[in-house]
Amino acid sequence: MDNNILIYNTLSRKKELFVPFNPPFVGMYVCGPTVYGDAHLGHARPAITFDVVFRYLTHLGYRVRYVRNITDVGHLENDADEGEDKIGKKARLEELEPMEIVQYYSDRYHDNMDQLNVRKPSIEPRASGHIIEQIEMIKKILAVGLAYESAGSIYFDVAKYNESHHYGILSGRVLEDMLSNTRLLEGQDEKRNSFDFALWKKAQPEHIMRWPSPWGEGFPGWHMECSAMSCKYLGERFDIHGGGMDLMFPHHEAEIAQSVAANGKDPVYYWMHNNMITINGQKMGKSLGNFITLDELFTGSHAALEQAYSPMTIRFFILQAHYRSTVDFSNEALQASERGFHRLLAATETLKKLRPSEVSSIDVAAVNKACYDAMNDDFNSPLVIAALFEGARIINVINDGKETITIDDLALLRNTFDTFVFEILGLKDEVTSGGQGDIVNGLMGLILNIRQNARTTKDWPTSDLIRDELKKLSIQVKDTKDGAVWTVED
Ligand code: ZN
Repeated sequence: MDNNILIYNTLSRKKELFVPFNPPFVGMYVCGPTVYGDAHLGHARPAITFDVVFRYLTHLGYRVRYVRNITDVGHLENDADEGEDKIGKKARLEELEPMEIVQYYSDRYHDNMDQLNVRKPSIEPRASGHIIEQIEMIKKILAVGLAYESAGSIYFDVAKYNESHHYGILSGRVLEDMLSNTRLLEGQDEKRNSFDFALWKKAQPEHIMRWPSPWGEGFPGWHMECSAMSCKYLGERFDIHGGGMDLMFPHHEAEIAQSVAANGKDPVYYWMHNNMITINGQKMGKSLGNFITLDELFTGSHAALEQAYSPMTIRFFILQAHYRSTVDFSNEALQASERGFHRLLAATETLKKLRPSEVSSIDVAAVNKACYDAMNDDFNSPLVIAALFEGARIINVINDGKETITIDDLALLRNTFDTFVFEILGLKDEVTSGGQGDIVNGLMGLILNIRQNARTTKDWPTSDLIRDELKKLSIQVKDTKDGAVWTVED
């Protein structure tokens, strides 16, 4: 923990030295998905960004409590206070219970996160499981006069809050500008001002997800859950809050206002925001025909894709950009990433075979230092990758006999690669057969060797038995000039 980490704090708009509130404990909250559809690239980026932060802080010895929520109620269409609940709408269209929708898409989201090798958070709370906490927090905000009831709904009084605080502190907005820029929208007559936001909404008769409250039956506003759940699990003040830049306003701005109103203090020390993903220079959107889910990327089943891209190719590609930069997806860029990733993996294999010498003719400590320096500078993953490629070059020249390395330096180089490639960047060696893991690959190698021996000795019954039994497990074996290869059929 003697590393000095600089974090770009969205709140102060500069890099700040990371000093945890209560070391070695670190509290980190990241806004998770609203589970009403398949996960796409827009979900992969924050998940991977904050996974690397989680991994690095853990690596340094911090005890990180990482909370990433699941939004299963209260997120209305267009992120507004009017319209249908996103999950409720999907449930109505599919004739399912809302919680069936939530379960189905949460499971799929978790599968995708596992494929991307994103570690599970310490706690994954759901909004619908914290209705009481949200109601209690709303009561506190009402008690200090910063919210009002209107037609059975509770709204946050932004103008009143802004008299003693700055609403817009995170996104750099000023209320006066917001005033002149807002138009009156339909249904907003319940609010005193158009920029007020709902803490609690009265449920209309057709609304499925509803709970009793002191103000009648209703449901919480979208922003409430994160304030209530971060406070419950991390306390009234905690270290890091993360999310995509698109959540900065109004979601995170509202979170700050709610927590300040209810608890009298700023909830978060370091606000971190990852930038957005574009596809061929365009914003991703359903109407633009470039909306690609993770499953489509992994299988290549989308008209815009020239091939399938493995989860590790996607992960590597995302990490090749700093999290505060935009990332533009294109087939060309992904293919370049795939080649780069394989080159890095090949170096890790070569590294296992290197033999030490009496002297080192090359500086490997510099590679290790460059990796730590890059991570300490606002989690600069592209610079870590650049340092690892320098390490790969060193590995190859040693392997070619042009340079030499001592046993201690070899250990340091291996440690650097293990730590940064696998532990911190969270990459892993996928096999083209479907990423089944080392044990399965080892077993398959063994089985195919036995089959090969059977064929060599013309023991056809054994050879056929192996092939047929594998087929029952949907494993297809093909004989090529380089030996047998296996694939798992869908
Ligand atoms: Zn949130």
